[in-house]
Amino acid sequence: RRARDSAARALPATTTDGHRIEIGANINLADQAPFALSLGAEGVGLMRTEFLFLERAESPTEEDQFQAYRAMAAAMGARPLVIRALDIGGDKQVSYLDLPREENPFLGVRGARLLLRRPELLVPQLRALYRAAREGARISVMFPMITSEAELIALRETAERIRAELKAPAIPLGIMIEVPAAALMADRLAVHADFFSIGTNDLTQYALAIDRQNPVLAPEADSLHPAVLALIAATVRGARAKGRWVGVCGGIAGDPFGAALLAGLGVDELSMTPRDIPAVKARLRGAAIADLRALAERALALPDAASVRALGADPALGGG
Ligand code: PEP
Ligand code: MG
Repeated sequence: RRARDSAARALPATTTDGHRIEIGANINLADQAPFALSLGAEGVGLMRTEFLFLERAESPTEEDQFQAYRAMAAAMGARPLVIRALDIGGDKQVSYLDLPREENPFLGVRGARLLLRRPELLVPQLRALYRAAREGARISVMFPMITSEAELIALRETAERIRAELKAPAIPLGIMIEVPAAALMADRLAVHADFFSIGTNDLTQYALAIDRQNPVLAPEADSLHPAVLALIAATVRGARAKGRWVGVCGGIAGDPFGAALLAGLGVDELSMTPRDIPAVKARLRGAAIADLRALAERALALPDAASVRALGADPALGGG
């Protein structure tokens, strides 16, 4: 039974009609890689680099970061590895960075907004990433909390300057889509981004105006809300127009029904916590992409997340 399980886990998430969805793991440390691979991960779709900065007294050095990125790349071998630039602010606070207190930190200087204001954070991180790339690490980098084209252009310029200084190879530079404005302007952003990864945790928070940490409203903060699905559909349309790939690395990617809907919406890659991988793969392998597209169309026309969930629970529609 174990042998059969592990053989099944190694199979790609290819639908019954031959459409393949890439499956990545959300992991932060190289020593989590063997476990993720044993569960069927085909790469890392989200390495959150905040963990390098949290629970310590001062920022990690460029060298500390270089070692961490190189170690993860070594653990993944030829598989894709997407490393996210530092995403501090909002729910993720780091005391030694002395960030100003804000009334609404989730609407404040976080993610890319902080990186653009604090070159002493951005520059060593990009140097460490490009040094890893220069050593042959197959990495992509993505920037969190992008709202505007101008932010992305500025970050790209800094990355390119550092790449040139280090004589490092070019690497794909992508962005997180987690702000509704970015989803709606995906076609413009796709001119400057090599790929998109949708952060549905934040995208849901901002689309529904529900603090992702508010326990009272948690049941309503459902990423399967049709408004969130419409933002995902807009992101896919914008990416397609420029030939970019789109992933989802928020929590809904690890929900088998959510994964099925995301595939139906045209998402190319799903990245999730490793333990969710086997069930997501099994669900996608049991479905036809044509049916998932029809399912997604129906979901987009529904009034609320509960109705979308009900669609997922209906065995006649491949749910249950
Ligand atoms: C997200 O917002 O969905 C995401 C993946 O990023 P984080 O949860 O780290 O904010
Ligand atoms: Mg996020």
